[in-house]
Amino acid sequence: MSIDLVRLAKAADYAARRHVNQRRKGEAAEPYVNHLTEVALLLAEATDGEDPVLVMGGLLHDTIEDTGTTFADLRERFGTEVAELVVEVSDDKGLPKQERKRLQVETTVHKSRRAKLLKIADKTSNLRGLVLSPPAGWTKQRLADYVEWAGAVVRSCRGLNVALEAEFDHAHAEAKARFGA
Ligand code: ZN
Repeated sequence: MSIDLVRLAKAADYAARRHVNQRRKGEAAEPYVNHLTEVALLLAEATDGEDPVLVMGGLLHDTIEDTGTTFADLRERFGTEVAELVVEVSDDKGLPKQERKRLQVETTVHKSRRAKLLKIADKTSNLRGLVLSPPAGWTKQRLADYVEWAGAVVRSCRGLNVALEAEFDHAHAEAKARFGA
């Protein structure tokens, strides 16, 4: 029995349950879990399936921020490495939104390799989402600002994985062409 495969399936199941009532921001309002599986797939492919902790982190990366899951919950179910990774990529929700965004640009450079890869995959999925289905009510300026900001965060974590960065660059170029950032 592959313990990693069982843990991975558990992470997917747990993420789907925790985010069950959440939808993506885009007009198509896809189930939020589609974002999580997309991030996990990007990470699995970019690392040739060799880093189950990272892929589990991808599935669970928004559980603390969006679903009230705690570090202790994650540690108990998925172990310390996964729980610490999720904490590392979670914003402090006690801070104002602009401050959180500024901190991502400034602090990601100091984070672990896994956290940086997760950030790149997360921004790739978000930019693809914006292009496929922009959120209703977002002005062109807001869309352009998001594209610009995602680029700034990813600039601070480059140089670790060529394949993943290529996926990001592709999504970023498409979003830029579309929204004129
Ligand atoms: Zn995310």
